[in-house]
Amino acid sequence: MTQRRPAHRSRRSRRRRQGGGRGLALVLAAVLVVTAAVVFLLRGSGLPAEGVETPGYVEKDYLTVNPWSRPGEPLEEINGVVIHYVGNPDTTAQANRNYFESLSSGEEGVYASAHFIVGLEGEVVQCIPLTEIAYASNSRNDDTVAIEVCHPDETGQFAPVTYDRVVELTAWLCETFRLDPAADVIRHYDVSGKLCPLYYVENPEAWDQFLADVAAKMADD
Ligand SMILES: [Zn+2]
Repeated sequence: MTQRRPAHRSRRSRRRRQGGGRGLALVLAAVLVVTAAVVFLLRGSGLPAEGVETPGYVEKDYLTVNPWSRPGEPLEEINGVVIHYVGNPDTTAQANRNYFESLSSGEEGVYASAHFIVGLEGEVVQCIPLTEIAYASNSRNDDTVAIEVCHPDETGQFAPVTYDRVVELTAWLCETFRLDPAADVIRHYDVSGKLCPLYYVENPEAWDQFLADVAAKMADD
């Protein structure tokens, strides 16, 4: 009896050790599977904006995918930010977003959209994910982010609260996609010669100040 007990304990402890070994193997396998899944998710589609989270002040209200305003094509490079004005005084960001949505019927025969619209109260509506192109900036649709800006009157000058938000959003985009405001933030005018954003085409010093304000905001952050 005295000899059987130790032998019995020994077999049990061996079984425990073997059981422990299987458990460890399972944990290691699980860790490998989770790691592979995380690597796969992080790699995503390889687009520059994959996995990027927009600031809290951005309200997402995406257009439905359609040939006229949200073609659903991947934005494979982000080399700049293009600033526009809506050209329709005293209209809200939401109204302009809804206009882009209305183009989806094709009845107007107009191709137009933007990633973001900054409104008269400084609100920001995002119409298109940053992983997709917008129809805003002609030959630069393929490699830029487009911001449309609302304005109170015909001059096209942004209201102070709107201006500050455009500076903030542009600075965030420059930081996120490693852009240089002096070289990479441009007006629609700089792409196609269109008088957009009107006030900042007619007053080049106001545009230079805008770029300086974006750079200053980035230095603050
Ligand atoms: Zn424009």
